[in-house]
Amino acid sequence: MTTYTPESKQFFTALQDGKLIGSACIDCGHVMIPQRVICTRCHSDNTEIVEFAGEGVLSAFTIINVPPTSMAESGFSTKNPYCTGIVTLTEGPRISGQILNVDVANPQTIKIGSLVKMTTIERERNGEKKIFLAFEVI
Ligand SMILES: [Zn+2]
Repeated sequence: MTTYTPESKQFFTALQDGKLIGSACIDCGHVMIPQRVICTRCHSDNTEIVEFAGEGVLSAFTIINVPPTSMAESGFSTKNPYCTGIVTLTEGPRISGQILNVDVANPQTIKIGSLVKMTTIERERNGEKKIFLAFEVI
């Protein structure tokens, strides 16, 4: 099993392995994503890397009709919008990502509180393939 470190790049290394990592504070129990050396609640440096189950609920979302350049390069546009959202993981912390398995043409059908499961998306950026976090409504 791979041992991850708090170095920021490791979050993406873990994603390539299909894993979602963060940190837990051994002193106060606070759980953070992505991983951090210092607890954001009690400022202790007594933290450890944790692996999340990758499941949670959709807490907020929006449909992006005018994408940033990076997403436009991936084919998104006013004619091909996408959904992005905030997911509250089962373990507590929140993280954003593209939301898949939703009808972006009918956002009224997308429900806050829907169960989601993590996945990854591979996109080419500046001629280089990169892995991004996404969530599928299940
Ligand atoms: Zn703490």
